Amino acid sequence: MMQRFNHLMHLRDVGISFNTQEKGSMSVAGGRPFCVILALLFAFAILFSAQSATAEPYNRPESLLDNQDYFLDNQDSKPRVIILATGGTIAGSAQSSVQAAYNPGVQNIEVIIASVPEIKSLATLKGIQVCNISSQNMEEQIWLELWRVADSLFTNDLCDGIVITHGTDTMEETAYFLNLTLRHTKPVVITGSMRPATSLSADGPFNLYNAVALAASAKAQNKGVMVTMNDYIYCANDVTKNNTVNTNSFTCPNYGPLGYIRGGIPTFYRENKFLHTASSQFDISGLQKLPKTEIILSYSFASDAAINAVIQDGAQGIVIAGVGHGNFNRPIAEAMKKAVAKNIAIVRSSRILLGGVDFDAEEYNPQWPVSLNKSPQKARILLMLALTKTTNPTQIQHYFEQY
Ligand code: ASP
Repeated sequence: MMQRFNHLMHLRDVGISFNTQEKGSMSVAGGRPFCVILALLFAFAILFSAQSATAEPYNRPESLLDNQDYFLDNQDSKPRVIILATGGTIAGSAQSSVQAAYNPGVQNIEVIIASVPEIKSLATLKGIQVCNISSQNMEEQIWLELWRVADSLFTNDLCDGIVITHGTDTMEETAYFLNLTLRHTKPVVITGSMRPATSLSADGPFNLYNAVALAASAKAQNKGVMVTMNDYIYCANDVTKNNTVNTNSFTCPNYGPLGYIRGGIPTFYRENKFLHTASSQFDISGLQKLPKTEIILSYSFASDAAINAVIQDGAQGIVIAGVGHGNFNRPIAEAMKKAVAKNIAIVRSSRILLGGVDFDAEEYNPQWPVSLNKSPQKARILLMLALTKTTNPTQIQHYFEQY
């Protein structure tokens, strides 16, 4: 068993720092008494652990999973849920319960679990601190590490479901990456919070409660990687952060949520029709790196400086976040032609939230596949994985229709 988890050392090897001191900001509104009590309990747990709370770098133990603790003792036969913690505002701490500025990625997962004791009634739990960062600092090596840990846990039947706690800024990207690569049917649920743990009416405790309830639920099998925030269940291919500060920030703009959770019980009201997880063709098990892909934003009188720079920098794929229906101006079009001549794959998407980019458009060219309803940030991830298999635009277009 020890051998199987040696991959957990990789993050240290590539020198990823887990130290984050960035400030975030948030708005505070009043909540119902129950939420206030829950938030106060959560805040007290955090304050009492303040001695151990630290903004110092998170030092990974020599070998996380060599420790037999990862075998969950579920004698009471509750579902076994492992929480992989990566940081974000849900692990954040402010100087006071109403302060807007805070430090994300400060509290460790043991403190977070201890502050929401209700989750122990839902599942036999174990927390693993994968890293403790703000998600704007998410790294390719942490994605690969999350994939390796989750894949090992499922392959070795060490748990029935996985929850990942994550900063909200790039949560949708990690969710889609795992949705395309984790080839298992057991539930994987990503959650976080818009308000830090120390906030009056913090949203983290209930989001975590819902995430554990969903990961422990038999109804959540084979749904693809899900995000739960603010009581809703979202599919990874459409979910996006839609408000910079509010607790009701997340949405699936094109297809709507998959369902909701009330009183710890998930209800699904639609299916995810796209290929995902167990039905995905993308096998990253041998990969140490992902193909380099970048996003270029289109806007009035944009120059070709940015696109030429990423071509020069060795991009293998470029997503155009076009204006309107995936449009771009002449300087960018000329650079796109140069890129295709160098066998760099191009995908056209749009900076607009709704409607997507399809074939029936001003700029349609089969050399430049269209993202359909994928946002530029989702299109980049799918292109990255498509490039592990092909550079052929027709085949890339086919992936965008399927996933
Ligand atoms: N910047 C934070 C992060 O993504 C914001 C959050 O978690 O809400 O880690």
